[in-house]
Amino acid sequence: MLELKNVHKKFGETTVLKDVSLKVDKGDVVAILGPSGSGKTTFLRCAGYLNRADSGKLIIGDEEYDLKKIKGKDLLRYRSRVGFVFQSFNLYGNKTALGNVTLGLKVAQKMKKEDADKIGRKLLEKVGLSDRADFYPSKLSGGQQQRVAIARALATNPEVIFFDEPTSALDPELTGEVLNVIKELADEGVTMIVVTHEMEFARKVATKVVFMENGEIVEENNSKDFFEHPQKERTREFIYKSS
Ligand code: ATP
Repeated sequence: MLELKNVHKKFGETTVLKDVSLKVDKGDVVAILGPSGSGKTTFLRCAGYLNRADSGKLIIGDEEYDLKKIKGKDLLRYRSRVGFVFQSFNLYGNKTALGNVTLGLKVAQKMKKEDADKIGRKLLEKVGLSDRADFYPSKLSGGQQQRVAIARALATNPEVIFFDEPTSALDPELTGEVLNVIKELADEGVTMIVVTHEMEFARKVATKVVFMENGEIVEENNSKDFFEHPQKERTREFIYKSS
């Protein structure tokens, strides 16, 4: 359904991604694990075209995008197919929860306000925030802000959602409510790639786990085999230290 092919990225003289490739099936929840600095976030940001790769492709369905440069019309289409949830929520402070969720529908898809609001309210209900539609981000907890960000990512009905460490800016007691929302989406069959340090989440929710180190995928497997029968010594060590 989705394939990332040979994503290569340097920052200055440092090679951060060394031709990383990954295949994702429809309905997969892929957890990307790895030590700090291994390139997880950069890989996701290149896949989401928030950073330009030096080379690499993203194939969705039968369309191929060049991650070095996606132009004009292609970029609009690409943006509607791929959702992104950031570590630090990135909500617009001058817009309500509903305003944040519906912005893409009103601006990019030119949808009428009442139609967009209807969808927006449904999505806020889905993430358990129907009573917070008119609240500004500053009046919401971190966990609530992140749930608004998830509703926003869902609004344009993307084929895949990328999550960049969605709970690492949250207190432990707020982490659970965000992970539960992601788990519900997983149960509904939403395709997701999640960079995370949450081993329990990877163990319980992910269908596939990818372990990265030094800009490369060291090991990938279905979640059960990844944790129960890691093949590489380095993976075993990482799981042991992180558990
Ligand atoms: P963490 O788990 O700590 O978030 P990560 O695995 O997500 O780490 P990245 O954030 O992708 O790792 O970083 C990979 C490498 O790229 C690191 O060495 C980092 O210092 C470097 N890097 C990331 N962004 C930039 C940038 N904008 N400019 C220069 N170097 C960068």
